[in-house]
Amino acid sequence: MTNHLKKGLLAALTLFMGITLVACGSSSDKAEKSDKAYIGIAMPTKSAERWIADGENMVKQLEEKGYKTDLQYGEDKVENQAAQIENMITKGVDILVIASIDGSALTDVLEKADKEGIKVIAYDRLLMNSENVDYYATFDNFSVGVLQASYIEDKLGLKDGKGPFNIELFGGSPDDNNALINYNGVISVLQPYFDSGQLVVPSGQTKFNQIATLRWDGSTAQARMDNLLSANYTDKKLDTVLSPYDPIGLGIISSLKGVGYGTADKPIPVITGQDATIAGVKSIIAGEQTQTVFKDTRTLAKNTIEMIEAITKDKEVPVNDTETYDNGVKVVPTYLANPISVDKENYKEELIDTEYYSADDLGQ
Ligand code: BGC
Repeated sequence: MTNHLKKGLLAALTLFMGITLVACGSSSDKAEKSDKAYIGIAMPTKSAERWIADGENMVKQLEEKGYKTDLQYGEDKVENQAAQIENMITKGVDILVIASIDGSALTDVLEKADKEGIKVIAYDRLLMNSENVDYYATFDNFSVGVLQASYIEDKLGLKDGKGPFNIELFGGSPDDNNALINYNGVISVLQPYFDSGQLVVPSGQTKFNQIATLRWDGSTAQARMDNLLSANYTDKKLDTVLSPYDPIGLGIISSLKGVGYGTADKPIPVITGQDATIAGVKSIIAGEQTQTVFKDTRTLAKNTIEMIEAITKDKEVPVNDTETYDNGVKVVPTYLANPISVDKENYKEELIDTEYYSADDLGQ
């Protein structure tokens, strides 16, 4: 148990005893509230819907349980995020929940947290190269890649031997471990089809560092797609694009439309995504983007809060993977949630029936 927590518990116990003496037993609620920890939550940016939802879900669910919270967004600037976390440490948080901008850039601030006895949970993105990460709550990032690539496999009939098809690959941010794991999941499914010649990559760009997109930025991806099309597709048709994230997919679709895709003769390629963003799902409904991967941020918040509750009560912290997530210094005990593949067929069931979005949100 951390010093902060010990101090908090002692204060709560004193308060509890005092109130019991005065009010004879009607005090347990107050005592419970006062021993709740203070949770600092550092999120990467408000420019992506999912992180806004993550922050809101965390604060809502924590406050319902009586925790005090401090939620900050780094707006994709590494130095902002480090300063925000330092500030949380100064303010005396007991536990830090961090969705990093650059997973390797926080080692100094994590060391400071450790010196103050603060427990650290890496949220969604693994904190790299640091001993001072206690737990990790995320979605199964390898599965995300498998779901995206298997969708292409099914849609193109690759298992039935169809092909050859032209494909281009896009990856997420090179400083986000999730992007690399996502890529490994993709390649685990697609490699046999590269080997058999059923999938051909006219640009030849298949390595992670060739396809990565800094900060998962849609306009960066759009610019790369423009270049790929002019350099490799003047006499070829693109059949499918592995896009790792909805805004990247939307950038790619704009680029494709710019050179005439989106007609009966030249349909928009099969194109994947991630996060089930409102714009992404609307594009699926409109028949442009083909698929996305839904990661229910309510579940991730719930799992993270179960970890927080266990830490504060000195109970065994729930984890379901103690092997996969090596941050370069240690394997971080992880609580994985399941991502779900969503397309035109099941978006209502997965997104509207579960009240993640209203029909209105999706223009329905
Ligand atoms: C998350 C994805 C998200 C991406 C861009 C990744 O670390 O796992 O859900 O789409 O960052 O924000």
